[in-house]
Amino acid sequence: METGLHERDRAGVQDFVLLENYQSEEAFIGNLKKRFQEDLIYTYIGQVLISVNPYKQLPIYTDDHVKAYRNKHFYEMPPHIFAVTDNAFRSLIEENRGQCVLISGESGSGKTEASKKVLQFIAACSGNQTTVEGVKDKLLKSNPVLEAFGNAKTNRNDNSSRFGKYMDIQFDFKGAPIGGNILNYLLEKSRVVAQMGGERNFHIFYQLLAGADEALLQELRLERALDTYSYLTDGLNGSVTSINDADSFKQVQQALTVIDFSKEEQREIFGIVASILHLGNVGFTEVEGNAKVNSRDLVVTAARLLGVNASELEAALTHRTIDARGDVVTSPLNQELAIYARDALAKAVYDRLFSWLVQRLNISLQAKETRASRNNVMGILDIYGFEIFQKNSFEQFCINFCNEKLQQLFIELTLKSEQDEYRREGIEWIPVEYFDNKVICNLIEEKHKGIISILDEECLRPGEPTDKTFLEKLTQKLAQHHHYVCHEKAPAHIKKIMLRDEFRLVHYAGEVTYSVNGFLDKNNDLLFRDLKETLSKAGNGIVRSCFPEKELRSLKRPETAITQFRASLNNLMDILMCKEPSYIRCIKPNDLQTANVFNDELVLHQVKYLGLMENLRVRRAGFAYRRAYELFLERYKSLSKSTWPNYKGPGGPKAGVQQLVKDLGWDEEKYRVGETKLFIRWPRTLFDTEDAYQEK
Ligand code: ADP
Ligand code: MG
Repeated sequence: METGLHERDRAGVQDFVLLENYQSEEAFIGNLKKRFQEDLIYTYIGQVLISVNPYKQLPIYTDDHVKAYRNKHFYEMPPHIFAVTDNAFRSLIEENRGQCVLISGESGSGKTEASKKVLQFIAACSGNQTTVEGVKDKLLKSNPVLEAFGNAKTNRNDNSSRFGKYMDIQFDFKGAPIGGNILNYLLEKSRVVAQMGGERNFHIFYQLLAGADEALLQELRLERALDTYSYLTDGLNGSVTSINDADSFKQVQQALTVIDFSKEEQREIFGIVASILHLGNVGFTEVEGNAKVNSRDLVVTAARLLGVNASELEAALTHRTIDARGDVVTSPLNQELAIYARDALAKAVYDRLFSWLVQRLNISLQAKETRASRNNVMGILDIYGFEIFQKNSFEQFCINFCNEKLQQLFIELTLKSEQDEYRREGIEWIPVEYFDNKVICNLIEEKHKGIISILDEECLRPGEPTDKTFLEKLTQKLAQHHHYVCHEKAPAHIKKIMLRDEFRLVHYAGEVTYSVNGFLDKNNDLLFRDLKETLSKAGNGIVRSCFPEKELRSLKRPETAITQFRASLNNLMDILMCKEPSYIRCIKPNDLQTANVFNDELVLHQVKYLGLMENLRVRRAGFAYRRAYELFLERYKSLSKSTWPNYKGPGGPKAGVQQLVKDLGWDEEKYRVGETKLFIRWPRTLFDTEDAYQEK
């Protein structure tokens, strides 16, 4: 089996550090391509795994593969996501170090599939007592639920995640999973009310219409025809060949049941989904400036599903009450504002339903036992990659800010800490230059000065703040910044492609032009008080808990969207900082979502902005592998007579290891002896013998 796996993988180099022409982008792409054409989608840069989306099912995730990769050292097997996972898993169990697997790449590059493979491997190779089976089942089943509510067909990916996800799996001291916890980030809720051409709303709407039985449809007053619903008709009006909505619905129902959602909870969930479809069809007419609902029966149906009073909902959709220090004034909305209120309602209800689902999943996933030690946690981060679209807005700004933060983390955790370790271990080392994107993070998030502060200030300012005044403030305060480009000061060739309502940021991964249109609205994220109040009294228990009364009573202004997002990101950084990271960098080989097509230009672009060439330079200069002497000796002592079965000479494990590498005849250029650890430059050149594959 193992040799079989090995022989398949001889195209190109398995680790880029072995690439002769390692400074050449062409050689880099060439190696990826050669391997891709042989269906070898995985390649390393040291310990970083590069994965190229094959867009076809490869027979490389079988139980035999799980077994083959289980308990093998990283360098003893061809590159694979299972190898990375096994490596992390063993560090977790043997060295008791918390782990995180960080998966990045652009939309459609295979991040979510990769996260599922990590989970698959863990589930397959960790304990099988019945208690554990239950936990594993729930962990695995959380995916179809989250995907149904949080994924959608976009023009880039038929199953694109429209939220960020960080999942912690907790293990007991023997390595059996005993619980989990999920954190969700920024759902793209604007999709609930409008989609771009060729795209769809969230899967669950289509799944419900296609998969619900007649009784459920009847109860929810739904019809199967998609074009009945205005929230579904903006983009692609229909089904997608790669997706079977009816089947998926059955899977979602089954998953909900496995995760212990009660029948009542399921009824309430689908009630909310249906109510949104009905709300979307509520139209308004305007009489003397006052909006009037023109389809009262739809309001009645939506109200019934949400468990609110229909007249109250109708009033809340067409009026606005402002409570200015006890002065309560209610005024009617015009048609435009009523539509705004309706859409805000639909988005808020869906967004909070999604967060509620995650919380509810977490209750089910909570470790029942207290055997978990705090360090026995493996996190998997599957979060949106850097986005540059034709038109970039508030959402892209948030997503790209998130990627700047992750790049900071990468620098902190790998480049910086790497150089620190060489110093600590007394190893001679020529520092490698790299671009530190801290300056861009500061540009965005620095207190009082950064873009976020300026945006929040503008949102909270009395008077008539607009997107335009926001842009003026930005330019006033940031025009001198090297990473901020405004229309006025842009060089001629950039000015040509910029509009007056745009600003441009020089991100570490490339330049992005943002349109300020909608920034204030989206950041304020306003749901009129009347609607909140109506929902806080809802008979639908989920709705009621999503809109707690105390939110209404609170005198503090709710935090803006970007401030909440920044806080959750900083919290994520804290979680990740204290863990040992494994990196998976995903690459999309073509824009057609099709197998066997490798677009050099597209790949080169991703290689550049993922910083892979820089990553390789640091790796080449450094030592890819390091292990404490005791651990190294224990593992490889069988390779020499002087250390097998045990090293008995003076000087302890360090001397033992020195003896061992001498016996193996290793070239001195290829390793270094540190204070407490052995450092190996490119392990693949040293461990490339069949001997080393043997597990003793
Ligand atoms: P992302 O999360 O990065 O946007 P996905 O993980 O959803 O991308 O992948 C997009 C699609 O690509 C998947 O729906 C699947 O069809 C295909 N795909 C991704 N990774 C693999 C893989 N390892 N093997 C086969 N197909 C894959
Ligand atoms: Mg995804």
